[in-house]
Amino acid sequence: MTTGAATSTRKVGIIGTGMVGSSFAYALMQRSIATEIVLVDADPERAQGEAMDLNHGLPFVRPITIRAGDYADLAGAGVVVMTAGANQRPGQTRLDLLQRNAQICRDVVPKVFQHNPDGLLVIASNPVDILTQIAADAANVPWGRVLGSGTILDTARFRYLLGSYFEVDARSVHAYIIAEHGDTAVPLWSLANIAGVRLQDFRTPAGRRWEQGAMDRIFDQTKNAAYEIIKRKQATYYAIGLGLLTLVEAILRNQRTVLTVSTPVQGNYGVSDISLSLPTIVGRQGALEVLDLELSAEEQKGFQASAQTLRDKLAQVA
Ligand code: NAD
Repeated sequence: MTTGAATSTRKVGIIGTGMVGSSFAYALMQRSIATEIVLVDADPERAQGEAMDLNHGLPFVRPITIRAGDYADLAGAGVVVMTAGANQRPGQTRLDLLQRNAQICRDVVPKVFQHNPDGLLVIASNPVDILTQIAADAANVPWGRVLGSGTILDTARFRYLLGSYFEVDARSVHAYIIAEHGDTAVPLWSLANIAGVRLQDFRTPAGRRWEQGAMDRIFDQTKNAAYEIIKRKQATYYAIGLGLLTLVEAILRNQRTVLTVSTPVQGNYGVSDISLSLPTIVGRQGALEVLDLELSAEEQKGFQASAQTLRDKLAQVA
């Protein structure tokens, strides 16, 4: 077992250079937080093609090294992000990807830690919570060093939709989606607020306010967003690319940002033995601390039900 501190280097590895991996790389090269990006893919030509395309944009951004490589080239990376694996087809759920992506995860994770024992590993491939649990078990590193992108994207979709409804900047909406990145996701209505005003009490200047039907629709749109996008364009990648950028920036800059990352749950709300998302402080060592929030009874029940669904699924690939 490795117990060393995560490295502080600004080298980032990306495993899987499909739509999600390349969108993340494209966002990352523009933010000036990484000094080097290494692209790894089971199809090396794909990784090379992405590296070439991204490199041709270098005259337009701050200096950064971008190259295709192999696992050995991940040595010294502060963070490696796994976006490899099958993607949902129209009509498929994230859990339908489990068999294939669990196998890929079990293959990839030991190789990452063999070559980069002190770095962090972020899982973005789906079903992200189960893969995070598999990766954490396979990695055998201290809690927090393996984390999933979890409900970062669901939370972003939720804030965007609420911001549109209440006519405020999505960044001024403080609202979280927890539990599974998928069909059993749980909205934390009891804590949702705009500038400290509970959503239930918020009024727009034009008099728009909380309506239960509208809120139900917003959550449905949040939960079903991927299905709607995949139906139209086969994949989702820009928003998760930016979500991964925000997560990796929080790590590389040691920001202690609160993000809904997925980590092995350690008894919160009576849950353990599975990875799920909860608002968590994220910094250079990865997930640092899960916030202890006062959830409503219904939210706690939703979290526990989500955990049970995922534990049952995990057992199928144990
Ligand atoms: P994609 O098919 O465009 O890309 C997948 C890439 O993984 C391909 O380039 C493929 O060659 C590579 N790959 C496959 N097996 C590999 C292996 N063993 N080692 C290295 N590379 C391998 O798919 P995509 O649209 O980029 O989606 C990637 C994953 O991200 C999917 O599982 C998808 O469901 C997931 N996703 C997650 C979120 C989220 O919020 N976490 C959002 C969107 C998509």
